[in-house]
Amino acid sequence: ASMLREMVRKRDSRLREAYLSYRGTENRDVMDSFLKMALPGTSSGLHIAHIAAEMAPVAKVGGLADVISGLGKALQKKGHLVEIILPKYDCMQVDQVSNLKVLDVLVQSYFEGNMFNNKIWTGTVEGLPVYFIEPQHPAMFFSRAQYYGEHDDFKRFAYFSRAALELLYQSGKKVDIIHCHDWQTAFVAPLYWDVYANLGFNSARICFTCHNFEYQGTAPARDLAWCGLDVEHLDRPDRMRDNSHGRINAVKGAIVYSNIVTTVSPTYALEVRSEGGRGLQDTLKVHSRKFLGILNGIDTDTWNPSTDRYLKVQYNAKDLQGKAANKAALREQLNLASAYPSQPLVGCITRLVAQKGVHLIRHAIYKTAELGGQFVLLGSSPVPEIQREFEGIADHFQNNNNIRLILKYDDALSHCIYAASDMFIVPSIFEPCGLTQMIAMRYGSVPIVRKTGGLNDRCL
Ligand code: ADP
Repeated sequence: ASMLREMVRKRDSRLREAYLSYRGTENRDVMDSFLKMALPGTSSGLHIAHIAAEMAPVAKVGGLADVISGLGKALQKKGHLVEIILPKYDCMQVDQVSNLKVLDVLVQSYFEGNMFNNKIWTGTVEGLPVYFIEPQHPAMFFSRAQYYGEHDDFKRFAYFSRAALELLYQSGKKVDIIHCHDWQTAFVAPLYWDVYANLGFNSARICFTCHNFEYQGTAPARDLAWCGLDVEHLDRPDRMRDNSHGRINAVKGAIVYSNIVTTVSPTYALEVRSEGGRGLQDTLKVHSRKFLGILNGIDTDTWNPSTDRYLKVQYNAKDLQGKAANKAALREQLNLASAYPSQPLVGCITRLVAQKGVHLIRHAIYKTAELGGQFVLLGSSPVPEIQREFEGIADHFQNNNNIRLILKYDDALSHCIYAASDMFIVPSIFEPCGLTQMIAMRYGSVPIVRKTGGLNDRCL
């Protein structure tokens, strides 16, 4: 019931689809279809466990979070049993979890020669069952008031990968697919085949998706032993040793050890076979038969201007009046000039890192100002120099009523900007897939992009 209630609250389109497809049939059939949706274990689909560091909207930094919930919901809709395993971050948005409760069992997992207890929390996010792991470890791995950027990130996520597998193993679940994402949970692949399969936990096949080859998770080889992996066995050029220095590389380990490896667009899959692979191109070539690019999509329930509760006025492609009202509302909210409704408004929502073409974003801001348009940037940077640079630009324009820079993370505001913008820039130097250009299109804003990676596959 709670899962169905949550779906109603979110106006989940699966409810409508189920209702329409059973219209005119017996009440019992209608009940059955809703029950099936709420109790996915009753379906004959696959049992898929995603182990990830992010999930929207509960723990979101970027596109990885959107994909975990969007893909999870899409698979659930196809009748698969989907479960998500996340760290229990102290900074996560707990109000986005329904029925969050702690289980009365502790799961013990190995780390650095000792066994540690883990509290396991369960809840529902976007209609998906989620397990949150809270380690009882003195380093308080996930109580750091941020998701990433800690000095011991390698340790934090090696710990999490091990604990997540231990949870699946101890719960006796017969999982068909374990899907791990990015370097943070790349450890799952070698751990599964080198440790857990030997314990008889071997029903699953491992899928690894690399959402960005820029981040690979490297460390001195000895650090691999922390989570119980065998350093001598893995510190080899054909296994986990990095291709250009003596460290070990978590993403390389997942490429070697997974049954299937994907990345997030066909063009990026080609790019990473050369320089885009950031040193892993040769490994990808060796394993090319199990490597492919699949274009990400967006969750069209979350990103839907006709139901979006953050918007001043909801609208759709056939009735764009609402778009003008949202533009007026954003102008008022951000104290921008509003005399000319048709004055074009350019939006940009991004993490401010070199990959996103920060110099081109800066250029676009100044150029838009020069041409008499309006520009709204929503973004924040994990790089202090970039954050400072954009704070300088924000100050420069503070008395200009056509330009606004909002240098923080703000989910609600992001929805309003997509709705208000006429154009949306994504000038990335490289872009594995990119979701903002898709969201912009969904909100009737024209994306202006560089021809790279997923921007090439989705916009051109
Ligand atoms: P990446 O994963 O490289 O950051 P994507 O385009 O794949 O880039 O996904 C970015 C996601 O994060 C989008 O959902 C976008 O709306 C959101 N986002 C990025 N920056 C912010 C911000 N400052 N505030 C709110 N949402 C943001």
